[in-house]
Amino acid sequence: MTAIVWSELATVLDPEIDISLLDLGVIRSIEIDGQSITIVMAPTRTACPGVHEMKRRVIEAVHRAVPDANVEIKWKIGIWNPSCVSDRGRKVLQSAGYIVAEEGVSRPLTCPYCSSVKVRRDGDFGGSVCKTPFSCRACGSTFDLLGADQCVSCRGPRDILQIASPPR
Ligand SMILES: [Zn+2]
Repeated sequence: MTAIVWSELATVLDPEIDISLLDLGVIRSIEIDGQSITIVMAPTRTACPGVHEMKRRVIEAVHRAVPDANVEIKWKIGIWNPSCVSDRGRKVLQSAGYIVAEEGVSRPLTCPYCSSVKVRRDGDFGGSVCKTPFSCRACGSTFDLLGADQCVSCRGPRDILQIASPPR
């Protein structure tokens, strides 16, 4: 039963971006106990406005796999970080014009369209709270950095272009 639940969960897309919640790192684990199925999920941000729609979609997917299951969603707040995004998820996001903040990587932010480092932060918030808007001075594209708020609020007002972890 676990495999069929996972395969349905793999089809659930994020409400805002065409990426599966599995690749985004939002769906974390499942626990099956008879007809009771618990899905552990981690929102990309505590105040993410998409959580209710995510929950609805996940419950619907579980019911496609096991129609009479008792589904419970457990949110684990504060454990999501950009490294939760799968490699496939990063590619999907890049092709949709998003760059994912990377943990422990010290390199300049690059444009997802032309790879130029001549990018500029356009403000604090993008289309939703987990996005930060940027534009590229080389090709003129605009794109969003996903998860950047963690770099700003948890690591102090360091230069957003140098997304590096503090020394450990
Ligand atoms: Zn560019």
